[in-house]
Amino acid sequence: MRFGEPMHTVDITDSPLEQLLSLVGERLADQQAEQGENAAAAAAAHIYERYPDTLRLVVDEDDWRGHPAVSEHRLAPAASAHIGQGLWLVHTGTSASDDEELRLLIPCACERGYVDLLLDGDMDLLGILADCQHQPVRMPHGNPYDCASLPDSRPATV
Ligand SMILES: [Zn+2]
Repeated sequence: MRFGEPMHTVDITDSPLEQLLSLVGERLADQQAEQGENAAAAAAAHIYERYPDTLRLVVDEDDWRGHPAVSEHRLAPAASAHIGQGLWLVHTGTSASDDEELRLLIPCACERGYVDLLLDGDMDLLGILADCQHQPVRMPHGNPYDCASLPDSRPATV
């Protein structure tokens, strides 16, 4: 802007800064898409390795939906898969990290929230499901006042 030129003649949409900011936006969107894809691939690889007799047989790679990191809430990239009757698998981390985990979210019998269980292999998963034989599959209360459920803890949809 030349000295003495009125402010309102400046077209900020054409400024170098505006153009840079839109480039940054595109780049962030690309990074988020890539994080989501990587998270879904890591989840598929995890069940392929750790759940050969259960999830590997029934959950396709396409069933996973990737979620990029949410830096404001310090959430790592994650992937989720709906497996039916309101039950979800949530995978975080990668095989290269120590914090890789697969969790199963089962709606509580009271329908107020989900019970969030860390899974540890085929036998663990089968044991959990054996305790939830009624239809639809819900996590029973240990006693009538003992609700262990949490509000919906699935990763936010993108
Ligand atoms: Zn409950």
